[in-house]
Amino acid sequence: GGLAELDAHLVRCRACPRLVEWREQVGAHPRAAFRDQEYWARPVPGFGPADAALAVVGLAPAAHGGNRTGRMFTGDASGDFLFAALHEVGLASQPTAMHPGDGLELYGVRVTAPVHCAPPANKPTPAERHTCRPWLAAEFGLLGPGLRAVVVLGAFGWQALLPVLGDAGWEPPRPRPAFGHGVQLALPATERRQPLHLLGSYHPSQRNTFTGRLTSGMLVEVLTRAAALAGL
Ligand code: SF4
Repeated sequence: GGLAELDAHLVRCRACPRLVEWREQVGAHPRAAFRDQEYWARPVPGFGPADAALAVVGLAPAAHGGNRTGRMFTGDASGDFLFAALHEVGLASQPTAMHPGDGLELYGVRVTAPVHCAPPANKPTPAERHTCRPWLAAEFGLLGPGLRAVVVLGAFGWQALLPVLGDAGWEPPRPRPAFGHGVQLALPATERRQPLHLLGSYHPSQRNTFTGRLTSGMLVEVLTRAAALAGL
């Protein structure tokens, strides 16, 4: 089976009781602005083509963003910031992401997260990260043949992704390299996998973008570097 089949299984996952309860509770109590909408309220699959050369790994869907629209990073301020940057680099067909069916296409990029369900306060537990790990490992396993680079948004994703890359056939360095904005390293080829470039960026959460800790220019710089390394 391919990515579409994986995603079809993923959206039925109920392995984390706390997150199942939260995603459904949020869905049952829409924000005023979205009162006429039916929330997705299920696991949110990765978004982008199965032959992506570049992956972007975030944290988890936002309660009223991905958990509402059913598409990763879609319908909230973090996503607006990310897709505007991807569009500026030429990796997205438009700078905005409203809902599935809005015409947004990603060019050679797959956007995903190590935890696929919205967590309370945007904070999954280590146990939830561990429980969701096989889904990300399977996704990277399927992306593997064409994948050349990964941009990781934030320390949580960085910590989550390195063991997942081990599951998917690369050899992550030990000890784990420290996360930082602009960090870049290369994982060597293995018997099963070609070399993979890893880059870190601060997460485009409002906490980072409102304070200027992450500017659009900073994210565009990392994405530009990653796109070049990915051959995009
Ligand atoms: Fe399943 Fe992952 Fe959602 Fe947990 S976070 S319920 S493992 S999809």
